Amino acid sequence: MSQSQSHGKLYIVGIGPGSIEHLTKKAESVLLESEYIIGNGTYLDQIAEVIKDKKIIRSGMGGEVERARKAVELGYSHIVSIISGGDANVYGMAGLVLEVAEKSGDIELEVIPGVTAISAAASLLGAPLVNDFAVISLSDLLTPAVMIESRLESAAQADFVIAIYNPKSRARKQNFSRAVEIIRKYRSENTPVGIVKNATRNGETVIAATLGRIMEYNDIIDMSTLILIGNSESRLWKNRIITPRGYQRKYEY
Ligand code: SAH
Repeated sequence: MSQSQSHGKLYIVGIGPGSIEHLTKKAESVLLESEYIIGNGTYLDQIAEVIKDKKIIRSGMGGEVERARKAVELGYSHIVSIISGGDANVYGMAGLVLEVAEKSGDIELEVIPGVTAISAAASLLGAPLVNDFAVISLSDLLTPAVMIESRLESAAQADFVIAIYNPKSRARKQNFSRAVEIIRKYRSENTPVGIVKNATRNGETVIAATLGRIMEYNDIIDMSTLILIGNSESRLWKNRIITPRGYQRKYEY
């Protein structure tokens, strides 16, 4: 303990999409090395068995700035992990913590990668990505709605597979139907769509549908859901989606 107090270090740790089996070995080892673990309740619960002997600082959703400040403050003289669900670079805590650290001076920090929701969801659906894709969050808390809509428009037009994070929250129910309207301008009704809720954790639900029928599933889409919309070459196969990488243009198989 005296050593950790003289040499602080701040880890920003992606803890994966849900199940403890998807916590990387590296993430587990830095959590075990840490004196303090900082995060919101859901994410702390997700790794409860790994951090049971640690000093835990639990903060609510929306307390991100305060959480980042606390982590940086403690990180000067203690070994601290601040955790993010999935990967900390994907709408996670890495950005805010580095911004706070940048202002506060010389702190030793390291970002530890995690399995992000898009990887978990894509795996459950088979092979919906495999080619170029765009990732868009529909949360307009920190990004203006017009910017989100213009990115949706560009991604749909450019035939990227589109992954949608944060499709809905309690306060924003309309953003999702608006996003679907935009994408439908550029994609056929038969475009495969994957709906993955609670990937790798309790309540896991995986649906492969089409763009034309997606609103039939509107009621089950919530803040624990990730949506994948195929490109013009994607196809459905059983309850799966395949987006060809392009091998068919060169090889016979
Ligand atoms: N840093 C996280 C994303 C945080 S944004 C990551 O890398 O995955 C929160 C959004 O991620 C949710 O609204 C949802 O769209 C998606 N998400 C996170 N975990 C998920 C899971 N287990 N299953 C489906 N979607 C998930």
